[in-house]
Amino acid sequence: MKKHNFSAGPSILPQEVLQQAANAVIDYNNEGLSLIEISHRSKAFVDIMENARALVLELLGLEGKGYKALFLQGGASLQFLMTAMNLLEKKAGYVNTGAWSGKAIKEAQKIGDIIEVASSGDANFNYIPKGFEVPSDLDYLHLTSNNTIFGTQIKSFPTTSVPLVCDMSSDIFSRVLDFTQFDLIYAGAQKNMGPAGTTLVVVKEELLGKVTRTLPTILDYQKHIGAGSMLNTPPVFAVYTSMLTLEWLKKEGGIAAIEKENEKKATLMYSEIDLNPLFKGFAATEDRSPMNATFNLVNENLKETFDTMLKEAGISGVNGHRSVGGYRASMYNALPIASVQALVEVMSELENKA
Ligand SMILES: *Cc1c(COP(=O)(O)O)cnc(C)c1O
Repeated sequence: MKKHNFSAGPSILPQEVLQQAANAVIDYNNEGLSLIEISHRSKAFVDIMENARALVLELLGLEGKGYKALFLQGGASLQFLMTAMNLLEKKAGYVNTGAWSGKAIKEAQKIGDIIEVASSGDANFNYIPKGFEVPSDLDYLHLTSNNTIFGTQIKSFPTTSVPLVCDMSSDIFSRVLDFTQFDLIYAGAQKNMGPAGTTLVVVKEELLGKVTRTLPTILDYQKHIGAGSMLNTPPVFAVYTSMLTLEWLKKEGGIAAIEKENEKKATLMYSEIDLNPLFKGFAATEDRSPMNATFNLVNENLKETFDTMLKEAGISGVNGHRSVGGYRASMYNALPIASVQALVEVMSELENKA
């Protein structure tokens, strides 16, 4: 029986996407060859790559607006470094909202001067800093839109004249935003887009080519753009499966439609956390993420009982990150609301039992 998959990443994909991807691994388009044993220069794969790149811009509303989409490797973690190498000349600003922002800061510090514009480290990152000043002399401001580990999300982005760089690994394609406010967006595929192995980068082309340092070829966005996102052999399976997920999303009605579903799931989840006296939420209410809900048991003695009940209900992947403890329910686009209902039922059953 298929489990209710709340894994934070790699994470749930639509069932029909898994089926299509599985078929393609055995025999792509009934041509007698597996997708993963043909040339990435074949027409079949070049079409997949181009379709995936076009779907990204279409779904984000960025077509014809000077942006390019790239499917790279090295994870969002390589983007911590690559964004700085390509964009940081004098000074960049970072908003520190948790573990991933912290890692982005550490990598960028190896490249140049950075300042921490704001941080929520004073409260173990359970909120999003607001109302901070953004200096106007920055090469860019780096943000993390959704903090996967802590379960917080930026709801309103700073208005500033400096370019915005945003790590959207765990909430890309989940909510309607004016994506033209960002100059560079990156996201590891494995949270809301596809399997692990590829990282999406969406960059405004005019931002590039301004730094004086010599860039290694493989770390140069312009070289990747010039090569059609095929500077070296791309991760064909990850790109194909991401393309299938993007097609699925388009068929479901795009970001606006999925956002409504995500809101329903989040409302159901957070109402239970708020109303059930056995649980308390971790993140500040106004900053809660619809993607990752973090919560704890008020009485840790109930942990064993609760964990057993979760297991019996086929609920998987709800353990919290070690830096927060407790539980984390990741409710990415592909998670059906029925899974959230199943989790909420177990929580209320526990209340009836206790
Ligand atoms: C998971 C995650 C990362 C790291 O992604 P990798 O692809 O494993 O490098 C970075 N940022 C955020 C917000 C994440 O959720």
